[in-house]
Amino acid sequence: MSQRVIAVTGAGGFIGGSLVARLRKQANKHIRAVDMKPLEQWHQRFDDVENLCLDLNDKQNCEIAARGATDIYNLAANMGGMGFIEKNKALCMLSVLINTHMLMAARKYDVERYFYSSSACVYNGDLQQTSDDGDRFVAPALKEADAYPALAEDGYGWEKLFSERMCRHYMEDFDLYVRVARFHNVYGPWGTWYGGREKAPAAICRKAIEAKLTGRREIEIWGNGHQTRSFMYIEDCVTGIDRIMNADIPEPINLGSSEAVSINQLVDIVEEIAGIKLERRYDLSAPRGVNGRNSDNTLIQKYLGWEPGIPLRTGLERTYAWIFQQSQWLDRHEARAVRESESVC
Ligand code: NAD
Repeated sequence: MSQRVIAVTGAGGFIGGSLVARLRKQANKHIRAVDMKPLEQWHQRFDDVENLCLDLNDKQNCEIAARGATDIYNLAANMGGMGFIEKNKALCMLSVLINTHMLMAARKYDVERYFYSSSACVYNGDLQQTSDDGDRFVAPALKEADAYPALAEDGYGWEKLFSERMCRHYMEDFDLYVRVARFHNVYGPWGTWYGGREKAPAAICRKAIEAKLTGRREIEIWGNGHQTRSFMYIEDCVTGIDRIMNADIPEPINLGSSEAVSINQLVDIVEEIAGIKLERRYDLSAPRGVNGRNSDNTLIQKYLGWEPGIPLRTGLERTYAWIFQQSQWLDRHEARAVRESESVC
């Protein structure tokens, strides 16, 4: 069997790094990991793969990344949690350059298969402005058709929706094999956990750890804590990417957990894991995104007979332990970075 050459873009980030970690263990694969960040900033780095530092906004760099590749997994994007995407809409939209140039390069070099990482932020916002039942907002399970008529998250969501359609037209017009997954919030070890781009699970774990270490038993929560979301553990995400790429799924598909919780419930679980109780302070003026959202997994079950199933509690235990370990290290080396980081829930 001839060797496949797999290019993973955004490989210096959370999900890309975890994907490289999985793919490098598979036989007969040469992995090309690509990211714009300097190597020392990559979340995970492996010396047995080809590592390239390239800015993929640039078309020529996309060609370097694609040349000779049989498969491309495009996970590169300028993104972060709610705090980041609400304040950086233009930057988020500029990621359209990455996917556009990568598709052009994939066509130019006859790449056989192309994966694009879209997001649940493509879904119509009106469907997610749900009512509050007193403890939490109703969390509608969004099915794939709910992206249209379109009213995506401003900035980040519109870029994803446009790029999905670009993928579709490359498939229809140029016969490129394309797979698109709409990730719902992903969390786990190696995820961003401080600095302003982190998402709710990591931010809450970090705040609980800070409270435990400093004795200041309080936590700031963005919004009233009733917002509902589902959170997918990174192992499920990587398994899903692998399965979707290898299956006959010619349309964008949800890749997310269907276990919805409110932010308050998320804090309850982390408190249990940390063995502490925190006084909650609610910042009602902070960015908090839509009221409620969950993943409808009917389609992925139909295609794969599988869906992400690692329980939130299990994933959070592992994530908390990992952040705890990291914070010990950071505390010795760069304590100021954590103290100065923005809270994002
Ligand atoms: P991440 O920020 O950890 O990784 C993205 C990587 O892309 C970063 O390392 C960044 O340096 C790189 N990148 C950005 N611009 C680049 C450029 N011009 N050239 C080369 N590299 C560039 O994010 P992640 O959580 O690993 O997300 C991966 C993908 O999944 C993204 O496309 C993201 O939009 C999508 N997604 C993630 C989530 C989630 O919960 N993490 C949810 C929905 C969708």
